Amino acid sequence: MPLGWDTLIGLLGRRPPGDERRSSAADGPEIALQAALAHLPVAVWSTDDTLRITSFRAGALPPVHGSAAALVGHGLQEMLGMGFVTAADAYQRAAEGEPVDFELLWRGRLFKAHIEPWPAADARPGALTVVFDITERRHAEEQLRHAALHDPVTGLPNRTLFLDRVRQSIARSRRNPEHLFGLLVLDLDRFKGVNDSLGPLAGDALLAAVARRLTPCMRPQDTLAHMGSQFSVLVEDLEEPSDLVRVAERFQAALARPVSARGEEVFASVTIGIAQGSSAYTAPEALLRDAHTAMHRAKARFPGAFQVFDEGMHARAVGRLRLETEMRRGVERGEFRLHYQPIVSLRTKKLTAFEGLLRWQHPQRGLLAPDDFLPLAEETGLIVPLGQWVLEEGCRQIRAWREGGISTLPTMSLNLSGRQLSECDLVADVRRALDAEGLAGRALDLEVTENVIMEDADSTRGCLAGLRDLDLGVSIDDFGTGHSSLSHLDRLPVDTLKIDRSFLQGQDGHPHKAEIVRTIVTLGHDLGLEVIAEGIETPAHLAALTEMGCDQGQGYLFSPPVDAEAARAMLEG
Ligand code: C2E
Ligand code: CA
Ligand code: CA
Repeated sequence: MPLGWDTLIGLLGRRPPGDERRSSAADGPEIALQAALAHLPVAVWSTDDTLRITSFRAGALPPVHGSAAALVGHGLQEMLGMGFVTAADAYQRAAEGEPVDFELLWRGRLFKAHIEPWPAADARPGALTVVFDITERRHAEEQLRHAALHDPVTGLPNRTLFLDRVRQSIARSRRNPEHLFGLLVLDLDRFKGVNDSLGPLAGDALLAAVARRLTPCMRPQDTLAHMGSQFSVLVEDLEEPSDLVRVAERFQAALARPVSARGEEVFASVTIGIAQGSSAYTAPEALLRDAHTAMHRAKARFPGAFQVFDEGMHARAVGRLRLETEMRRGVERGEFRLHYQPIVSLRTKKLTAFEGLLRWQHPQRGLLAPDDFLPLAEETGLIVPLGQWVLEEGCRQIRAWREGGISTLPTMSLNLSGRQLSECDLVADVRRALDAEGLAGRALDLEVTENVIMEDADSTRGCLAGLRDLDLGVSIDDFGTGHSSLSHLDRLPVDTLKIDRSFLQGQDGHPHKAEIVRTIVTLGHDLGLEVIAEGIETPAHLAALTEMGCDQGQGYLFSPPVDAEAARAMLEG
């Protein structure tokens, strides 16, 4: 029941001090007050100037339980026990004539108390006290506050509380430059896998188990928090910055043994990013961001290890973010182009195909090659829409040549990224790109690098077979750089091997490289595959490959990749 002080004082029938009717028991309002009091977690008492209780009424209050009358005549100190210390101070202030509000601990419960100056019966100065039991309410408030600042799965501080502690630590280092502190972000390496394979309940159990394992590694002044699949640690009072590394090692050692999540033993390795705090940080989020940047860097290079943040990392992270934004805009604004490099039959020296290679006409930086943007496109997933555009543009170009009167059209070879291959509707997308330009599958050849194919040979086989059902060719690109297993190679639905250009480069000083090329050509032919050599730069390369019986070649000796206009001139010439 919401009941404010004003209502209660109203119920008490507040009257001017010295009012004669005050003690009249037959009074109407007095009876109403009695009835109301009986249901409320309230007590009301009056005291004289020696803090002796002159009258006492209590409602539904556990601490008084029937002893109300017995309290009259006793001292306040006797009644309140330990709570008297705070109360005495409040009565002192009230004696100066002003009402006072305060909180009172009485017989193990918490009360909100209000004192009004109120003359005693003999007109001596006194006070009237009203107390409200707020134990449950405070308890509920505390639970709410705890819930707002803690994570329900692990019971650890959440992001809000963590950032608040970091903010305090930054402020502390501003006051005291000797105060050294830092942040660790711990990312669970295979959390997604556990969540996907064992279910989200096991995922939660894993997080809780890791929290229990990490907690004993903490010192009391440090804060371990949980956010998503990550834990963050604020480490205070460092003796030297390198202590942060020792803390990281301690955490990793703690997780060297498996933890158990709903009966499953799971190795919960973590990758850790470390950032040293300083008063130069204006916002706690910035320090957390830097620890994250370091963690992502560790993840990309050495999962399961740790990495300390440095300034260059921040610059690179900002650069990547800018590049990603520009790339997204570039896709929308049509800044990407295909350039075409001829593939030539080594027997007839005739042009048999063009490999379409992606370029980005950057508004400020000029024409960019794939090395400048493709790795980030792969990482961010932008390669999927970009790759789709490549398919459409390649098909569009063939049709344009055909409509322009080119009679013998070359095959169009296009590169597929691993990301595209793992998208289940790739086959349908290719089909659509062909249909849109009225082309048969034969018009295309799709190149997939050896590494991508071998990473998950069983699952790519299905996708490649689907592509072959469209009657288009499939090539293994950069052959010789990955780890092909011969047993897989034998069963892959592919038509062509493209020998990586690294086998031709610098070959003059490495005669054994020539032997490797010869072996690959033979292997390809034994498997019934067409063999293309990439990176033919010199007449010597060409002579050697022709002598080995390699079928086709591609390289600067014939032509670098050129734009569509120049490619058309080649077709006409
Ligand atoms: P790649 O598929 O192996 O393409 C051949 C690369 O070798 C091209 O580099 C080409 O310019 C270069 N090259 C050709 N002849 C020679 C030569 O004689 N000597 C030397 N040193 N290099 C030669 P580019 O265009 O920079 O492409 C690099 C890589 O980017 C490609 O390697 C391919 O993996 C990837 N890429 C290009 N376009 C696409 C695309 O549309 N989608 C995907 N997923 N990847 C692409
Ligand atoms: Ca290629
Ligand atoms: Ca290649």
